[in-house]
Amino acid sequence: MEQIQVRSEMKEKPKIVMDYNNTMGGVDRMDQNLKSFEIIKKRGKKCYRKIFFHIFNIAVWNSSVVYRKNGGKNKQLEFRLDLIDRVIEKYHSGLNFHRGRPGSEPNPLRLTERHFLEIIAPTDKKLRPARQCAVCCLKRNENGKRIRKGTRYFCPDCDVGLCITPCFKLYHTQKDF
Ligand SMILES: [Zn+2]
Ligand SMILES: [Zn+2]
Repeated sequence: MEQIQVRSEMKEKPKIVMDYNNTMGGVDRMDQNLKSFEIIKKRGKKCYRKIFFHIFNIAVWNSSVVYRKNGGKNKQLEFRLDLIDRVIEKYHSGLNFHRGRPGSEPNPLRLTERHFLEIIAPTDKKLRPARQCAVCCLKRNENGKRIRKGTRYFCPDCDVGLCITPCFKLYHTQKDF
């Protein structure tokens, strides 16, 4: 038995617990930690999905061990949140980008995919609907005000209004247009 202090009181901790703690290996520690980060919690999910996500979870855990061995300071939770950010940065589909809001973050995939100009379809209310051009609206006039230029054309993949020329080409070929 060993004496330990619990809130100003001395308590005895059973030897078996001490032995276990002192010799606890990496696998036990991993199992303990992974419980907090279980990916599938619901019952009745397909078992192969459970197995896949468990192995996936172990892979994430292992990478965090390598990360810490190389001097990484983030705790498990921060490590995972960072990892999510990096994966989204690299592999996101770009679908949430630039949803018709001129001036917001442009869709990065516009530079590598094949996009084509389309005319904005007429609606019941408007026979000739127009949008702000995403390239023109980034420019400012001599008074420092944003230029507002309507266009009847848009890129359906990026979901932004664009002048036929030169803005469509500029938007799809230059990082900073
Ligand atoms: Zn586009
Ligand atoms: Zn334009």
